[in-house]
Amino acid sequence: MPRAWNFSAGPATLPEPVLRRAQSEMLEWRDAGASIVEISHRGPEFMEVAAAAESALRKLLSIPDDYAVLFTQGGATTQQALIPLNFAAPGQPADYVISGHWGKTAMKQAAPYVATHVAASSEADRYRTIPARDTWQLASDAAYVHITANETIHGSEFRDIPDVGDVPLVADFSSSIASEPLDVSKFGILYAGAQKNLGPVGISVVIVRRDLLERDGQPRADIFDYRSQLKAESMLNTPPTWNWYMLGLTVQWMLDEGGVEEFAKRNARKAALLYGAIDDSGGFYRNDIDPAVRSRMNVPFFLHDEALEKAFLSESKAAGLIALKGHRVVGGMRASIYNAMPEEGVQALVAFMDDFRKRHG
Ligand code: PMP
Repeated sequence: MPRAWNFSAGPATLPEPVLRRAQSEMLEWRDAGASIVEISHRGPEFMEVAAAAESALRKLLSIPDDYAVLFTQGGATTQQALIPLNFAAPGQPADYVISGHWGKTAMKQAAPYVATHVAASSEADRYRTIPARDTWQLASDAAYVHITANETIHGSEFRDIPDVGDVPLVADFSSSIASEPLDVSKFGILYAGAQKNLGPVGISVVIVRRDLLERDGQPRADIFDYRSQLKAESMLNTPPTWNWYMLGLTVQWMLDEGGVEEFAKRNARKAALLYGAIDDSGGFYRNDIDPAVRSRMNVPFFLHDEALEKAFLSESKAAGLIALKGHRVVGGMRASIYNAMPEEGVQALVAFMDDFRKRHG
C-alpha cells in the first residue's frame, strides 16, 4: 500500500521530507562513519544535533531567553507527575482546569504529591465546552494553575490564554504546540510530548520560566529533577538520540515552510474545510463541540447512524485515508490534522466524506 493520508492522533503523520531525509542519513550520518543512532550522545556530532534542535525550537516558538528548554523522556504523562514534584511543596494546593480526558490524567498524576483542586470542569457538559474563565474558582496559595491547551480526545482547544494573575500557568501543549504563534511569556511552564506536532514519540519538550526552577519542590531523585536535567543539558542519562534528531529535523522543516505564522493559516484553512463538511452535511455528520472552542488539530465527529461506522472505516481505508477511528472514550470518528497533514489530505478526506454521504444518505 502506498503512503496513505494518515489521520492518527499520535504517533501521527510526519512530514514526508523529514522521513526522506532521515532515510537518506540512516546508515551514515555526515562524516560520523555511523548512523546518528549508533554514536555517543556526548560526542561532537550528536551534541551539534541536540543544540541545533534546541535553537530551531527556540526560533520556531520565539522562546524568550528567560525560559529553559528541556528534552525529556517518559512522555507528557511523566511531566504531569514531575511538575508537582518540581514546583509545588508537599501537599500544597494546585489548580486544575478540566476540559477533557487529558486534564483529568494530569490531575491524577499529580494527586500523590499535591492537594489537587478542580478550579473548573466541563465534565458535566461531556466536555463540549471549556469552562469560562470567570467561573473558575482558584485555590488560594496554589503552586500553579494547570490547563490542557488542546484536548486531543474530546476535540476542544483554548482559543485565548486565560489570565491567572501571578500564579504560574502550566499548559499541556502536547497536541497543539507550534500550530500557531504563541506568547510563551504568558506561561510558567509549557510541555508537550513530541508525537503529534514535533516528531516521533519518545521525547518530550518542557519549556519552563527559569525563575520557577528555583522552587524547592519536593524530595525527588536527581533524574526527576528539572534543575539537574537543565544543568546536564538534558543528558543526565542517555537521551533518546534518534527522537531528538528527528525532532530537530521536524522543527527545521516547520521553519523552512514559513514557521508558525504559516502553519496557523494552513491549520485554519484545514479546520474550516473539515468542520464545514461536517456542519453542511444536513446532520449526516455531527461534531458536538462548542464552535468557539473547536480544536483545529483534532476533529471528532459522529455519523448519524452508528451502523455506518464500519463501512466508513473500511471504505475510507480503501480510499487511502487511515486512522479515522475515534478514541474509545468518545467513540465515533476522529481526524487529527496536525502541521504535517497537508491541505491536500484534508481535501481528500472531505471529498470522501461527501461521496460516502451521497452513497449512504
Ligand atoms: N496530553 C495530551 C493533550 C495528549 O494528547 C496526550 C497523548 N495523546 C498525553 C497528554 C499523554 O502523552 P504521552 O503518551 O506522551 O504520555
